[in-house]
Amino acid sequence: MTKTLIIGAGAAGLTAAYFAAKAGQSVLILEKTDKAGKKILMSGGTRCNVLPVVMNLDDYFTNASPNVLKKVFKSWSLNACKNWLQDEIGIPLATETESNKWFPESNSAKEVRDKLLEACLQLGVVIRYNQQVKELQKTDFGWEVITENKIYKADKVVMSTGGKSIPTTGTEGEGYRILRNLGHQLIEPYAALTPLKGAHPFEQGLQGISLNVELNVNSLGNQSQSNRSGFVFTHDGFSGPAVLDPSHYAVLHQLGRMEKPDYRVNWASKKREDWDAYLQSGRGLVLNRVKEWLPARLAESICAECGLMERSCAELRREERLNLVDKLTAYRLEISGNEGYRKAEVTGGGVPLDEINTATMESKLHSGLFICGELVDVFGRIGGFNFYWAWVSGRLAGKS
Ligand SMILES: Cc1cc2nc3c(=O)[nH]c(=O)nc-3n(C[C@H](O)[C@H](O)[C@H](O)COP(=O)(O)OP(=O)(O)OC[C@H]3O[C@@H](n4cnc5c(N)ncnc54)[C@H](O)[C@@H]3O)c2cc1C
Repeated sequence: MTKTLIIGAGAAGLTAAYFAAKAGQSVLILEKTDKAGKKILMSGGTRCNVLPVVMNLDDYFTNASPNVLKKVFKSWSLNACKNWLQDEIGIPLATETESNKWFPESNSAKEVRDKLLEACLQLGVVIRYNQQVKELQKTDFGWEVITENKIYKADKVVMSTGGKSIPTTGTEGEGYRILRNLGHQLIEPYAALTPLKGAHPFEQGLQGISLNVELNVNSLGNQSQSNRSGFVFTHDGFSGPAVLDPSHYAVLHQLGRMEKPDYRVNWASKKREDWDAYLQSGRGLVLNRVKEWLPARLAESICAECGLMERSCAELRREERLNLVDKLTAYRLEISGNEGYRKAEVTGGGVPLDEINTATMESKLHSGLFICGELVDVFGRIGGFNFYWAWVSGRLAGKS
């Protein structure tokens, strides 16, 4: 029986283990921490958003061509993956229609982790905890996997050690070092889906306010992203899906790898001309008019920033009105930093897809070495896209 050794018991590693064992392999997982699937347990606010309801290639970020990525996703449709979770792993799922996300019916991330782990164990997968892999070596017969106190021998190895986000869960980026030592040229990893730091409008402490906004980001020259979703003021900046999804542009800029992105917020997702007409037709204080559409404290900060706190709509001059409309529909967020890996939901960069055979997730540099999950240069936006990548790439590696 071929002996497959899987390094890392996260979403991708457990999926790879399941499919390798199902294909008749003898499977051993080495996990650095004392638990499998720590990130599954904390995901989706402990509800675990297992999949998106619909998916497009633009929901993902990678340096590879969209066609390469498409090939991987074509190997397992969203529907087939959902049926696997429901019918084979035994997790009843329910959609959250307003956000287009799949969650377990129980809203329990623990159920997802427990059932996936149980399915692996039932197929005979063995897991050894507190086994931190330090190095991999290719030998004449296959691979030697070296931990602090033991050398394991395997015919095939799957690397699924995740990225660097939330290092306290065990993901400190060792997989990148191990693969670099084996000759892989990594795209330098960076924090993604991480909260941003910056001053609130009129330097006011607006923490705790949350609302749905439209956020446009201009970066990479002409490329523009528009996104209407949750925005949250944190104590020293901004978070929520609208901010997290494009946060890597600010991270890459701060690392000197990209020109400065321009983040513009339309607080009420209302058109310029509609605000303009609405303010012109109003009576009473401008502030009260703005409060009809924005949370009160945010409306006050924006009106104060425009010097219009005590002014009535009737006395607004044209340029004052247009300046206010600008701040309401295209407010520039001044970004001064980011929360980095400490709070990042994923890691961008990693092993380029062109160093991997995307039909099998096998390294193009080393036969018998498979790479999947967050280690690879692919991440998705908020919405179940990252688990979909982990399930799809883990399955391909395991089956192969
Ligand atoms: C707070 C939070 C919430 C999230 N919510 C969602 C969500 O709702 N939906 C979604 O799609 N995505 C979500 N994500 C992202 C998702 O969790 C990741 O994309 C996914 O877990 C990546 O899976 P992975 O198996 O590649 O890596 P991981 O899950 O990180 O697993 C890697 C494993 O490898 C182990 N390991 C590391 N180094 C070694 C070593 N040297 N030797 C042995 N073992 C090692 C680690 O301990 C870990 O168990 C969330 C992430 C976070 C942080």
